Amino acid sequence: MKVYFIGAGPGDPKLITVRGAEIIASCPIVIYTGSLVPKEVLAYASPDALIIDSAGLDLDGIIKEIEKARDLGHDVARVHTGDPSIYGAIAEQIRRLDEMGIKYEITPGVSSFLAASAALGVELTAPELSQTIVITRMEGRTPMPEKEKLADFAKTGATLVLFLSVTMIKKVMDELIPHYGKDCPVAVVHKASWPDQKIIKGFLGDIVEKVKAEKIKSQSIIIVGRVLSGEGFAESRLYDASFSHKFRKASKEG
Ligand code: SAH
Repeated sequence: MKVYFIGAGPGDPKLITVRGAEIIASCPIVIYTGSLVPKEVLAYASPDALIIDSAGLDLDGIIKEIEKARDLGHDVARVHTGDPSIYGAIAEQIRRLDEMGIKYEITPGVSSFLAASAALGVELTAPELSQTIVITRMEGRTPMPEKEKLADFAKTGATLVLFLSVTMIKKVMDELIPHYGKDCPVAVVHKASWPDQKIIKGFLGDIVEKVKAEKIKSQSIIIVGRVLSGEGFAESRLYDASFSHKFRKASKEG
């Protein structure tokens, strides 16, 4: 018996991995995270599978369901939104599984921030603008570790990706503007890859009003950085005609 943590992807049911869909199809028990996992993903499950929404359960409740499955010798597909390793709360489940001696395996998924950058049509690591992505969040009920303040990351000028923060967007902008400037591009992608996806583009100085006007209060990724402008970056060395690498000889003098 095993628990399979599976990333369901950001919303579009076609963005689950082939392996994830196959494991869901093979498990007699599927536990999924509420409204964030699209119903079409659950359609991969066998018609006889027991399907449980974890939205109404606390950690003990989830573990109880897994214990019941273990007693029956049934594998469990534990389906999380996006990629399970990013704000997926799998660490606490894994700790319990380890204590109980239950084996587990993780199948990655397309995180919502990757669906957001795809929707925006950008590269988050454009040469000479930013070669680093900071994935973080504004402090909510989960406190931020002392050394992970947004303003400290902002000092690096890296591309910032914020989860779980759209309701605090005013505070986010107040912390970022001193470092990135009011004219730095920002995008908010709401429900990336869902049919009702919304993209709001702006600058740090005007995004708060735009997000308010659209009444967006949940399920959004905020991306901040000059990479969003689509200009001012250098071409990569990878396709540079004067640059050789293992698979291609330079065609031009460097
Ligand atoms: N593990 C998930 C994140 C879960 S935390 C992942 O990798 O995407 C929940 C947060 O993820 C939401 O508050 C929102 O910030 C973000 N999110 C999840 N799905 C989203 C989507 N389709 N579009 C935009 N943001 C999304």
